Amino acid sequence: MATPLRVLIHGGGIGGLTLATALARRGHTVQVAELRDGVEALGVGIIQPSNALHVMREIGTLDACLEAGFEWEVLTITDPSGNPVAKIPQPRMDGAPSNNGIPRPALARILAGAATGAGATVTHGTTITELTDDGAGVDVALSDGTSARWDLVVGFDGIGSPLRNRLYGTTYSPEYTGFANWRVTVPRQPQVEGVVMSTGLASAKALLTPITDDLMYIGAVFAEAPGFRPDPERAHEELAERLTSFGGPVAEALTHVTDPAAVVYSRISQVTVEEPWHVGRVALAGDAAHASAPQLAQGAAMAVEDALVLAQSLDAEGDVAAALAAWEARRRPRAMFVQSLSRAVLKQETGNATTPEEDELLKIGIPGAAHVLAKPY
Ligand SMILES: Cc1cc2nc3c(=O)[nH]c(=O)nc-3n(C[C@H](O)[C@H](O)[C@H](O)COP(=O)(O)OP(=O)(O)OC[C@H]3O[C@@H](n4cnc5c(N)ncnc54)[C@H](O)[C@@H]3O)c2cc1C
Repeated sequence: MATPLRVLIHGGGIGGLTLATALARRGHTVQVAELRDGVEALGVGIIQPSNALHVMREIGTLDACLEAGFEWEVLTITDPSGNPVAKIPQPRMDGAPSNNGIPRPALARILAGAATGAGATVTHGTTITELTDDGAGVDVALSDGTSARWDLVVGFDGIGSPLRNRLYGTTYSPEYTGFANWRVTVPRQPQVEGVVMSTGLASAKALLTPITDDLMYIGAVFAEAPGFRPDPERAHEELAERLTSFGGPVAEALTHVTDPAAVVYSRISQVTVEEPWHVGRVALAGDAAHASAPQLAQGAAMAVEDALVLAQSLDAEGDVAAALAAWEARRRPRAMFVQSLSRAVLKQETGNATTPEEDELLKIGIPGAAHVLAKPY
């Protein structure tokens, strides 16, 4: 489309700000309505695999991400005592770096700066209150009292997506997998020069992920009852109790886990919107459409790919409807691959029964998936 569009993005997280940057750089008029009051993000880190870094390069934020994070290339698998059993080089996509660990707040600041720098407007503490799509455009009222007409509204509003509820009711509400992730930021040990995955007894697994020269985070997944929440007074002890079978760098990292408030506990849920990701001129993207378990560290990577491919589809197609159809045709298979394999790996790692289809997928494994996902998106 040659004519600049007016696009409202609901949600200024990783995907929303990437889309805002990609569209504003192309000359479209973009506003991001973000519920949170400021540029904040949960204080742990995230892995940017090569395909995510490729998107960062395309929107001009790669150098800032690498500067703020910790670039790495080799995944190390260890036994429960921390003795290396395998070192697996990770692929690069089209010359992009292999992987980068980065603190989430740093990534949020980089993406917010890129979006506003490219000309997008980001309004915090704002959400959609009314929305009417009449086919030719979408009239939207925001909670800050403003209203405007848009050519396209994109819900990058996360796993709990209010916009998804507006389109599809509770049909695609997040499903809890029965597992939860515990994460804590600790000092980086010098030997942790890439992700270290320690496999332990009783199917437990602990990950150490470097995110700056000085910091890494320890992460582990366990089956937890739906209503379970860590005790605010002793969450650090509860994590240590779950990881008693580990020695080596995991045990060393645990000596720094002394503050219960530093433990970030995330229930792992999934969303699969089986109907089209758009209704008229309102689209769902990222976790709102296809949240997956974090086993492949690809959820945010899928969100930023969604963002860039949507911008490219709007470039290439003659109207919004054709662009949304082309975008979803390109995105759905890849997002579903990540979701299905992540679910299968989660079950395998936690000693749960897998289906024959999942057994087939598991032949690819995490290292194989990295190669599949380093191919063009
Ligand atoms: C434990 C764990 C570890 C993970 N590790 C990785 C990893 O290493 N690598 C990776 O690629 N992915 C990882 N992920 C997945 C990744 O965090 C998500 O897939 C990614 O954040 C999705 O981006 P998004 O933009 O779709 O949603 P989000 O980043 O969740 O952003 C949604 C935004 O919408 C806003 N919002 C919500 N409601 C409203 C509203 N009513 N109005 C306006 N705004 C609203 C929110 O405040 C938020 O800013 C992990 C996930 C988990 C749970």
